[in-house]
Amino acid sequence: MEGIEVKPHNQQEAAESLPLISETARVTSVEPMDRRRHADVADAVATLLDAHDEDHLLESGEWGPDPIDWPQVEAALDPASGSTLERKVESLRDRDERPYPMLVDLRFETEGGFEFQPGQYVTVRYEDVSRPYSIASSPTAEDTALAIRHVPDGTLTPMLVDADPGHELEIRGPNGEFLLESPSSRDIVFLATGTGVAPFKSMIDYTFEEGRDVFEDEERDVWLFLGCAWEDDLPYREAFREYDAERENFHFVPTLSREEYLSKWDGETDYVQHTLMKYVDESELADDAPVELREFAAMDPVADRDRRLDPSTMEVYACGLSAMAYGLVDVAESIGVSGRHVHVEGYG
Ligand SMILES: Cc1cc2nc3c(=O)[nH]c(=O)nc-3n(C[C@H](O)[C@H](O)[C@H](O)COP(=O)(O)OP(=O)(O)OC[C@H]3O[C@@H](n4cnc5c(N)ncnc54)[C@H](O)[C@@H]3O)c2cc1C
Repeated sequence: MEGIEVKPHNQQEAAESLPLISETARVTSVEPMDRRRHADVADAVATLLDAHDEDHLLESGEWGPDPIDWPQVEAALDPASGSTLERKVESLRDRDERPYPMLVDLRFETEGGFEFQPGQYVTVRYEDVSRPYSIASSPTAEDTALAIRHVPDGTLTPMLVDADPGHELEIRGPNGEFLLESPSSRDIVFLATGTGVAPFKSMIDYTFEEGRDVFEDEERDVWLFLGCAWEDDLPYREAFREYDAERENFHFVPTLSREEYLSKWDGETDYVQHTLMKYVDESELADDAPVELREFAAMDPVADRDRRLDPSTMEVYACGLSAMAYGLVDVAESIGVSGRHVHVEGYG
């Protein structure tokens, strides 16, 4: 990753040494962004049983969808270890058994507000536990928004997703140098998985509010590639879809690895980096771009077929769990994006 601007973060950094914003920030709302999808899972399992001639379970009433008798379903389907069917059944079971909510938009207010730049994070302390969270709202928004993924065995997130309006948080920061470049004619490409999109929500809102998507009277293209498992794991999907519908120069490309198990998902399903490659102009790839990436560049994307990205005129921002985010950086570099224009934030 020579030349790439890497901004590592240490989860354990002494939170107390960061500037105090407020000891009494008030939670104003905690809204689930995902949905309960038990009925969808039950339908998908019934379809699987039917397709494997196990529909007698459905007819005899031996299989009740509420709750799903997973050991019985697994015994009936008897999927071979490592098979597509096994992966499907496991994924459906994970989805059915996961806690709800799994993804929330948490907003808080501080007396007098505070200044930050899009892309920065704050450290939240609640019940004596501190963790960093990227700010998902624009600096101009009234309340500050965070997109929080519930880590079931985690220390802080189970408490945060359960917080009520009025709860008080200690907020420190703002921190981080994962910031937008100065405006230029370059296209902006955001790559994220899951809540890694939080700083991009702030950056995108701000970019459009401030007209930073226009440079010397020319519109720049703004792309967001966002990878998740299920459709309702996409944070802020409605806002991104609205931008996409309203603005010629905004392109929202969700890529969902498991959604087709639950609905007729006809969008992208590959890893974020492979999806990105489908939208890159094959003829503009660096000469030594890896063959695997070239193969994806030769494929047709699902949407926006007439639009192609040129690595030499892109600035790229990648965010998410560290291994994935740094992997995306490698891909950007290997297709010819200049290291000066690649920025990354890892969530540890
Ligand atoms: C700069 C920065 C910004 C961040 N911004 C966000 C954000 O916007 N939204 C957000 O949800 N998180 C964000 N994180 C991660 C966050 O700080 C916590 O690590 C996370 O919320 C888990 O906290 P916890 O106390 O519940 O779990 P912990 O008790 O800290 O961890 C329990 C275990 O879960 C693992 N784990 C941590 N995060 C995840 C995850 N997302 N998925 C699966 N396993 C995980 C840990 O590695 C650990 O093994 C950010 C991290 C950094 C460094």
